[in-house]
Amino acid sequence: MARSDLLSLVSLTGKVALVTGGSGGIGSAVVDLLFAAGAKVLSVDLPDRSEPGGDAVRLPCDLTQPPQVHELITRVGKDHGRLDIVVHCAGITRDSVLWKMEESAWSEVLSVNLDSAFYLLKEATPLLRKAGAGAVVLISSINGQRGKFGQANYAASKAGLIALGKTAAKELGRFQIRVNVVAPGWIETRMTEGISDKFRQQALDESALGRLGQTDDVARVVLFLCSELSSYVTGQVVRVDGGQLMA
Ligand code: NAD
Repeated sequence: MARSDLLSLVSLTGKVALVTGGSGGIGSAVVDLLFAAGAKVLSVDLPDRSEPGGDAVRLPCDLTQPPQVHELITRVGKDHGRLDIVVHCAGITRDSVLWKMEESAWSEVLSVNLDSAFYLLKEATPLLRKAGAGAVVLISSINGQRGKFGQANYAASKAGLIALGKTAAKELGRFQIRVNVVAPGWIETRMTEGISDKFRQQALDESALGRLGQTDDVARVVLFLCSELSSYVTGQVVRVDGGQLMA
């Protein structure tokens, strides 16, 4: 479906959306699409990846640092007065089999992928509540559902995001804040370009659609979950994986 046809169905005009990992592959596709749908988009990433440019407001923040997350959300409140949408795309991998995994690799991945989501949700909830309704999307992974050789830290962090998302959906539903989780399969980005051809081929073989995922495949589902098209959807995990995992 052409982007213009898609956008004729959805409008986020008047909404303020915060996207973490906004300079990354999936994050920048989400930033572009939410902006095209009419939202004011605040793109959050590490200071050395937050160059000004494009249509979004760039906000540097290391999301593993609670005081920085507090400062970030305080600034959003002061500068924009509201927050309607939060999409958490920031994430890293530090792969190795678990019997060789350094403790630092375990804690770094848990910190960036999962702890950050807790800090963000905790800080953002009052502002989302003030807006009267909201949508939160956490980017997990199919590997958080099925496990993955060499990714004990990553898979655990992504499973944690699913539990966090479902709990947040239960707690925030009374404020009309919907919380959903997107679990992508293999998506072609900087994160996957360093992975060996063997795993790439495995993902291709698993895909019922016979192709690897692109960042816009994920962004379109995120747009749906942030829009009124999904007004009665909360606490769900939506896989965007071309059918890599079916169960
Ligand atoms: P990416 O590396 O292109 O983007 C990740 C972004 O997160 C980067 O811009 C990075 O600077 C940012 N980031 C890292 N640490 C941060 C921190 N402490 N504070 C703020 N920002 C930080 O990777 P991507 O493929 O676009 O991945 C985006 C999300 O999608 C990740 O959560 C990833 O786990 C998830 N995901 C990706 C795939 C895939 O195949 N690419 C599959 C499933 C899930």
